[in-house]
Amino acid sequence: MKRIAVLTSGGDAPGMNAAVRAVVRSGHYHGLEVFGVYRGYNGLIQGDFKSLTLGSVGDIIHRGGTILHSARCEEFRTEEGRQKAIQQLHKFQIEGLVVIGGDGSFRGAKKLSASGFPAIGIPGTIDNDIPGTDFTIGFDTAVNTVIECIDRIRDTASSHERTYVVEVMGRDAGDIALWAGVAEGAESILIPEAPYELSEIIERLERSRHRDKKHSIIIVAEGVGSGVEIGEQIKQRTGWETRVTVLGHIQRGGSPTAFDRVLASRMGVKAVELLLAGERDKMVAIKDNEVIGIDFDEAFSQKHQPNLALYDLAKILSI
Ligand code: ADP
Repeated sequence: MKRIAVLTSGGDAPGMNAAVRAVVRSGHYHGLEVFGVYRGYNGLIQGDFKSLTLGSVGDIIHRGGTILHSARCEEFRTEEGRQKAIQQLHKFQIEGLVVIGGDGSFRGAKKLSASGFPAIGIPGTIDNDIPGTDFTIGFDTAVNTVIECIDRIRDTASSHERTYVVEVMGRDAGDIALWAGVAEGAESILIPEAPYELSEIIERLERSRHRDKKHSIIIVAEGVGSGVEIGEQIKQRTGWETRVTVLGHIQRGGSPTAFDRVLASRMGVKAVELLLAGERDKMVAIKDNEVIGIDFDEAFSQKHQPNLALYDLAKILSI
């Protein structure tokens, strides 16, 4: 193997740049030429490739977003589109591809490898919703961004003795809400993986008021529904002043945390090792702090679950 390529696809996540850097640097370390593909699968179809030198990935380990840009690409969902992509890869004499992205991007990568082109996935998404791995690149940064924001909300919540509902991202997964909720000592954490009762949330709020707590924070994962609606219901039932903050896309940006930079570096190096070992159909994962490769099929056959022990723990601590 002499030439490989790397792309970023789907929703971006902090730490993707650190992963690109790791793929490029470890590729060069092993004597490979590494091409960057711009704008995800669109660039793959259009042949938007550029040879990346060691220097071209300098000074990016700390940057959010992705220097390769990311995009969604409908054409890649078709067999015809994927054949065009494979032709471009052959034209550039590329023998293996690393795809940094989420679940959808991996389904595309899996189809590429099923058509005979080796592809390895690196999980990059703030949602942490990819089965088979304990963590995805960008999740830790997103949680840290959320807690930084909620720390600020707490200050004003205490001053005005208000109840705050904070809606966080995560698509169908409750991981961001769960980790941020434990880290913030939230009164209640609403995640799609666990049913909730409004009456229980209100009981908790009443208990904390009785012990003279000056503010209350309720974290709602977007997969549960609208934070605005839940805030409205609480206000109607209790009559208390309730404010809602929807954090939105600030959770996708920012400089990656040390954890995400290290995770991205480890995963990037592993992806290149897998290609060199002749693997063609795997994603990189971290399990019990070990970076491993697992078959796409094995990952897709599982269902992602957040760490529900944390959910129970949060209930104990917010008694
Ligand atoms: P993410 O990777 O963040 O989950 P998407 O689900 O939007 O983001 O997927 C990114 C891109 O991956 C899509 O625009 C499409 O090009 C490709 N893709 C997604 N699902 C499939 C699929 N089932 N088959 C082929 N390509 C897919």
